Amino acid sequence: MRNHQRGKLYVISGPSGAGKGTICKAIAGKDNIELSISMTTRNPRPGEIHGKDYFFATKEEFLDNIEKGNLLEYATVYENMYGTPKDAVISKLERGRNVILEIDIQGGLQVKKLMPEAILIFILPPSLAILRERLVGRQTDSPEVIEKRLAETLNEIKLLGEYDYYVVNDELEEAVSAVKGIIDAEARRVPDKVKPIIGRYEREKGETE
Ligand code: 5GP
Repeated sequence: MRNHQRGKLYVISGPSGAGKGTICKAIAGKDNIELSISMTTRNPRPGEIHGKDYFFATKEEFLDNIEKGNLLEYATVYENMYGTPKDAVISKLERGRNVILEIDIQGGLQVKKLMPEAILIFILPPSLAILRERLVGRQTDSPEVIEKRLAETLNEIKLLGEYDYYVVNDELEEAVSAVKGIIDAEARRVPDKVKPIIGRYEREKGETE
């Protein structure tokens, strides 16, 4: 018998450069939170490690995984394919771990459909001008890619209404604590907790469940 509760699934999305990756890295590893490792067909960036940052795959391998039903969701983002390995996520949740998917909005909406209990958090930049500065500053993308990403940003933000929570990432520390606050509040939802909480008081009083 399982003596722990199933973990919760969080989706963190937002426009490129909004800082979702940094926020996820800051909260993962603590408070029973694990980050899911996605599969992608894009090339590794300098310093990225296979199996840690992503599972890097060829297009054929990726399509094979789709066909076998191994992906919880997948999407094409800026010409590369990205997807969430299903079994790893499900087994973590069953072991009572909370799992974070740092995925794009198309993927987030697929997850919400499949698992309506998932909690979707949208990370917003303080402004489009600041987003541009960040994208230019991080020097990972060419000017053409940056323009493409900025052009896509407003379309992404228009889907905010599909998400459960939003956090504006102005100051990183504040954004991290806002996301932690959401996770903390979700952990205290009464519908999930009502039985174990009442059970604890019943046991204390000597009543059996
Ligand atoms: P990057 O190439 O910068 O690492 O990621 C590009 C975009 O792909 C980001 O918006 C990121 O959140 C998204 N992404 C990463 N992994 C996944 C995934 O497994 N599924 C989906 N749908 N998007 C992903």
